[in-house]
Amino acid sequence: MNGVGSRSAGANRKSEVGFARGRSGAWCGAVNLRLQFRRYRAPFRAPVRTAHGMWPEREGLIVRLESETGAVGFGEAAPIPWFGTETVEEDEAGARILGEWTNAEHLAAVPERLGCLKHALAAAKAELAGSKPTAAHKALGVAALLPAGRAALAQIEPRAELGFRVFKWKVGVADTADEIALLDDVCAALPGGSKLRLDANGAWDRRTAERWLERCADRPVEFVEQPCFAPRSGATPGAAWRRKDEDLLLGLAGSFPTPIALDESVAGAGDIERWIGAGWPGILVIKPALIADLRAALRTLEKAKARVVFSSALETAVGARGAMRAAFAWSGERDAAGESRPRALGFGVWPLFADTRLDGPVTMPFVRAEDVERMNPEAVWTALS
Ligand code: MG
Repeated sequence: MNGVGSRSAGANRKSEVGFARGRSGAWCGAVNLRLQFRRYRAPFRAPVRTAHGMWPEREGLIVRLESETGAVGFGEAAPIPWFGTETVEEDEAGARILGEWTNAEHLAAVPERLGCLKHALAAAKAELAGSKPTAAHKALGVAALLPAGRAALAQIEPRAELGFRVFKWKVGVADTADEIALLDDVCAALPGGSKLRLDANGAWDRRTAERWLERCADRPVEFVEQPCFAPRSGATPGAAWRRKDEDLLLGLAGSFPTPIALDESVAGAGDIERWIGAGWPGILVIKPALIADLRAALRTLEKAKARVVFSSALETAVGARGAMRAAFAWSGERDAAGESRPRALGFGVWPLFADTRLDGPVTMPFVRAEDVERMNPEAVWTALS
């Protein structure tokens, strides 16, 4: 679907839907950027199991910005509404309101609640200006994704033979006692020196999380991701919800030696700042595609010396390239000798789509900076025409 507005896309409509006006209070400035977008609906090769049921297809928006000199940039809005983002319908409506002819001031006025659209537009604008972050690494490790339950066991050896040494296992989907009993079998199947990540997607209550964390203490568990997630009341979590989520997770993090990583808890606007402000001692899973102002977020994380894992939002190669560029530019944690020790990427997702033209590079234990640069947004754009 091609989104094409007109130069007369009304200022009044922008105001009606909450677009912020410039300091002058008026919509001004020449329109010097051409905005096009294509909304896509891309079936996964196999439905993805989530805490909210099966997810059969990815929906999103690829945006294309072109300057008067013919420079082009692409970006992707890949919202995940059950993570608390807007919907793709809202992003499409936002893009239509901007219209085909726009400028930097109008792009900046897109409301905060359309965080994924803001992300896409910022990425496209940066690319158009020729600005890209400098890679700090030649190659980064990738975590191998294991299926939930006993099926994980059969998947470890073939991945280990490919060279994977970081594995991620989905938990919190079956009976707790059965899953905990399986943990030792999974650990025993790992090659020496491997690390295991457990991702509960917020499925556990406090007591269940405590049982797991006790069990993880002497095992090669790199971290437990999102053990609990305070149930939200309504679409916009309020202050009481946030406090409950913080109390629960900070309490767990302070009581066990295995680090805890936050994923669902850091998906909303302002969450990164909030958790850093609360003194979060664990790891933060960053899905760049969901962050409206990625540059500002990365500066905040850097300043706080945060421990970060960069992760896929199951976006196409357009969004994934920007996300992985951010990961390559991130200097990472340092060991005692001052050596950079970046954590394995949460990008072990490809091949992901039924239409392989939307995929990033097929996942190997390491991805090189040059593989990221070879990802071609134009090819995705064309595939979606
Ligand atoms: Mg997760």
